Amino acid sequence: MAKPKIVVLGAGYAGLMTTRRLTQKLGPEEAEIVLVNKHNYHYETTWLHEVAAGTRNQNQARTMISDVINPNRVSLIYDEVVEVKKEENRVVLKNSDITYDYLVISLGFETNTFGIKGMEKNAFSITDINASRMIREHIEYQFAKYSTAAKKNDDDLTILVGGGGFTGIEFVGELAEKVPELCKKYDIDRSKARIINVEAAPRILPGFNEDLVAYAKKSLQDRGVEIREGAKISECKKSSFVIGDEGEEIKAGTIVWTGGVTGSSVLSKSGFEITKGKVTVDSDLRAPDEENIFIIGDCAWVMNKEEGRPFPPTAQAAIQHADTCSSNLKALLQNGPLEEFVFDNKGTVASLGSKDAMGTVFDDHLLYGKQASAMKKVIDNRSLFLLGGPKLVLKKGKMRLL
Ligand code: FAD
Ligand code: NAD
Repeated sequence: MAKPKIVVLGAGYAGLMTTRRLTQKLGPEEAEIVLVNKHNYHYETTWLHEVAAGTRNQNQARTMISDVINPNRVSLIYDEVVEVKKEENRVVLKNSDITYDYLVISLGFETNTFGIKGMEKNAFSITDINASRMIREHIEYQFAKYSTAAKKNDDDLTILVGGGGFTGIEFVGELAEKVPELCKKYDIDRSKARIINVEAAPRILPGFNEDLVAYAKKSLQDRGVEIREGAKISECKKSSFVIGDEGEEIKAGTIVWTGGVTGSSVLSKSGFEITKGKVTVDSDLRAPDEENIFIIGDCAWVMNKEEGRPFPPTAQAAIQHADTCSSNLKALLQNGPLEEFVFDNKGTVASLGSKDAMGTVFDDHLLYGKQASAMKKVIDNRSLFLLGGPKLVLKKGKMRLL
């Protein structure tokens, strides 16, 4: 009899971790496992702001999938998922089709511009390795161009970041380190280059601990980052944001949008019921009314029953989804009971450059400065450890904690 075929779509935190767990939990005779991903590498999405700022090389932030998944045990397909044909148990890829008995959809996030005029066309977004590398190269080009221009336009040196959530704040933290380097490299006076973060809410990092937000703001401002709060962006032009009720225009040579994310557009193309770009999954992480389809990571809304709203999309949650998802796939194969997903919140730590950070750990204990920065690197290394063991930590890890 043919072995049941489990197909995992996407090799981010959720998909790669599910695949690894399946190889640990199931014997080769129990199931055929297939992993489909757009590229032959996995990247640390949580490090992409560093790649975009140019403070980390893209090769340190990515790992060949075949280095962490045994290709003799798992069939690796490098192709783009176009659509899932649920009724036919079939996935349409750009270059072929693939059938499944069980499916895991872990295709991650896409940028959400909320229909803001011109944003999609004129702003960069930190979405994957190539998009992040493009931002880095664009910023450097602006500085190089300025240094040789006969008629200099100081606006070319301004970097505008729309959205003061964790991604925007971590990104400007890296820029605060990179921009002085670029100024030195291209003989530019540091005071000419501006880094501006624009947040619609009354303060950056809405909803986060006020003391930590105040700490982050001061740390960034002390290093030359301008923070505009209560400033809603209504339009993105070729070289500017339009903000606030008065229609103030801020000009820049580089514009990056970090104002929101949503689930993969493959979900809506495939006819799933969508709420704000994602599928609200059952407590066992299956799509509603689908016996054999799990949706995890940033593609899923997983309800926090205590608070009556979904958990935020994080790598921490995506990795935990993978544990439950792989256990439930094993249970389905062995006719066992499925388990409910229970989120174990280990806290949130955000970097403010390579030497500063802030966040909460261990039941709301507040961390600041060097201690927090070291903790953030430990967290980053822990993800690498889970994905690829000590070998991966030694190869790609953040070894300088302080
Ligand atoms: P992803 O990591 O996005 O992986 C999706 C995978 O699917 C990728 O390999 C992609 O190439 C592939 N893929 C996508 N579409 C297709 C397709 N059509 N066909 C084939 N393959 C496809 N969370 C934290 O908990 N801590 C942090 O410190 C943190 N920092 C962050 C920093 C940044 C800059 C960003 C952007 C996010 C950060 N997050 C953080 C959030 C976290 O990265 C996401 O929640 C997490 O990556 C979700 O994991 P995932 O596996 O669902 O998706
Ligand atoms: P987000 O949705 O958390 O933040 C987007 C920010 O943009 C919000 O503060 C929002 O008010 C602002 N915004 C939206 N529209 C705007 C407008 N028109 N004008 C100005 N500002 C506007 O998105 P994110 O920061 O990309 O984070 C996505 C997910 O990834 C979150 O769940 C976050 O917790 C997670 N993340 C975690 C970390 C970490 O733990 N260190 C780091 C990065 C991201």
